[in-house]
Amino acid sequence: MLHVVPAFSRIGEENAFAVLARAQALAAQGRDIINLGIGQPDMPTPPHVVEAGIKALRDGHHGYTPATGIPPLREAVARDIRRRHGVEVSPESVMIVPGGKVTMFMAILMFGEPGAEILYPDPGFPIYRSMIEYTGATPVPVPIREENGFAFSAAETLALITPRTRLLIVNSPANPTGGVTPKAEIDALVAGLAAHPDVAVLSDEIYGTMTYDGETHHSLLSYEAIRDRLIYLDGASKTYAMTGWRLGWSVWPKPLYDNARKLAVNAHSCVNAATQWAGIAALDGPQDCVAEMVAEFDRRRAIVVAGLNALPGVSCIAPKGAFYAFPNVSRTGWKAKALASTLLEEAGVATIGGPDFGVHGEGFLRLSYANSAENIRRALERMQGFLSERK
Ligand code: PLP
Repeated sequence: MLHVVPAFSRIGEENAFAVLARAQALAAQGRDIINLGIGQPDMPTPPHVVEAGIKALRDGHHGYTPATGIPPLREAVARDIRRRHGVEVSPESVMIVPGGKVTMFMAILMFGEPGAEILYPDPGFPIYRSMIEYTGATPVPVPIREENGFAFSAAETLALITPRTRLLIVNSPANPTGGVTPKAEIDALVAGLAAHPDVAVLSDEIYGTMTYDGETHHSLLSYEAIRDRLIYLDGASKTYAMTGWRLGWSVWPKPLYDNARKLAVNAHSCVNAATQWAGIAALDGPQDCVAEMVAEFDRRRAIVVAGLNALPGVSCIAPKGAFYAFPNVSRTGWKAKALASTLLEEAGVATIGGPDFGVHGEGFLRLSYANSAENIRRALERMQGFLSERK
């Protein structure tokens, strides 16, 4: 009998991958499946970035790199942060990691232990809770409410802090809701954190380039008051359509940096060298590819929101960021997860049930609009037919 440590029984998953597998299995049987479940851009990585990766391989970048990343990429990240957030960070505080998830895992491993409490958004990216549970810490959900436009409420978040709170996870623009937390609310959150100097903050800004309706993203990096306890998470996956390359980066306060470096040495040694060179091309190259992608998402967003609001029993506030819509389906007569799985099986439309993102996700579905406008229209028509017939 093998004795795997009990922590593994507490590890969760992302149901999006199970939905993808089911959608692919149905497609393999010949069914026409429209996938609005998946959380990755449907566009290819920009060609100049692909070329830089190929060139790096041809130029012989085949070996290990420093665990913290190649210096020119760390410098490119610091330039990106200056350009986008108007903040100076030292390349010495930048760590290159194999995807945004790795920063998350490192931060949660550093602060999670039995007896500790970690605050995380609910509904939110399911991996936060999974990783917190793995460490034995107590996951404390911060409710993210439709009536707040799916933004964090500073007051509600601060009220959940106790003497055992070690880490607060913030995510804006957010998965799964598309919510963007306005500057005033972030100001209030940071002001309130002054009373809790022992609470570290992990700011997941992986969708930071994707905002709409004139909304702007406010990085927590721009708040000097919490810089000594802020872990900034970003990466290339969403912004440059590079999910499969595995490239993320983080900025760490000095006392935490070496812990992160040691975790990297123990876990993955370094990010794939060619990927790192491609990352420099992405960050330092022309940014119109990002603007074009965001403009395309914005066009689809309009189609999704209008289409969802026309469905019987469904309402959807316009998401301000990322590429997800989070419609309220509580008046359809369906439980959200049953609706998601029946839509897939019977109508051939893959979505994710809100409860897969936390207890406060009941009554909602997540639809990704990382699919063509044509497919989104077809999916909405199928949902219209389904909901009209199956009340
Ligand atoms: N953070 C959020 C909120 C996400 O939605 C995702 C991916 O879906 C990630 C982080 C992880 O990104 P990566 O693929 O770079 O690990």
